[in-house]
Amino acid sequence: MLIVEGLSAGYGEVNVLSEVSIEVGHNESVAIVGANGAGKSTLVNAICGLIPTRRGRITKDGRDIHALPAHCRAELGIAVVLENRHLFGELSVRQNLELALNRGRLRKSASIQLGIQDVLELFPFMNERLNSAVDLLSGGEQQMIAISRALLLKPDLLIMDEPSTGLAPKVVKAIVSVVASLRGRGMSLILVEQNVAVAEQNSDRAYVMSLGRVVKHVDRGGWSEFARSELVTAYLGRQ
Ligand code: ATP
Repeated sequence: MLIVEGLSAGYGEVNVLSEVSIEVGHNESVAIVGANGAGKSTLVNAICGLIPTRRGRITKDGRDIHALPAHCRAELGIAVVLENRHLFGELSVRQNLELALNRGRLRKSASIQLGIQDVLELFPFMNERLNSAVDLLSGGEQQMIAISRALLLKPDLLIMDEPSTGLAPKVVKAIVSVVASLRGRGMSLILVEQNVAVAEQNSDRAYVMSLGRVVKHVDRGGWSEFARSELVTAYLGRQ
């Protein structure tokens, strides 16, 4: 589904990613873990087309997308929940969702066909808040709206950048259970997480990043053991 090969990318004069290669299969959930500043968000930005690729290739379903603008990648089924969510704070929950719904209509043949009613079932609190301005909601509620908005784009690859950061355990649990329910429904996931326990619960395998490189691939068989081992502290610091 997605293959990133030898990717270099960065900001202005600064090169952040060097020779990054990852693969995500159909219906697979892959975690990207690493300490602060490892380059995880930069990799997300590069995959979505928010920053340009300097070297390397990104292919989705066999098509080279590395030079396509971000909106074209969205139309090809890549949706992202960025770390700072990028919701329209002065608009209501309903308006934020409807904007995504309109874009999602462009993906007529998508295998995932979630509508507003479906995301309301995933996150029932939104039923009561549909007409509230997003700025008035809590961080956890905003995160759930950001995830809903991404789902309404009908992605076949959903990328989430640190969905649990700064949220109360109860909210993390709600988000984790929705992510779990998405797995196996024809959607691939890239889950960027510093919290290895959350990452391990929600992914099949992982790439560990450090200083802009992938320094370790943890396969299906070794993921649970790695997540509980001292190696996590060595790569990511104390959890
Ligand atoms: P965190 O877990 O703290 O979000 P991260 O692994 O996602 O970290 P990035 O945000 O990708 O790491 O940052 C990697 C490097 O790129 C850091 O050294 C950071 O200072 C630099 N960087 C990130 N964004 C920019 C930017 N807009 N301009 C210049 N440098 C940036």
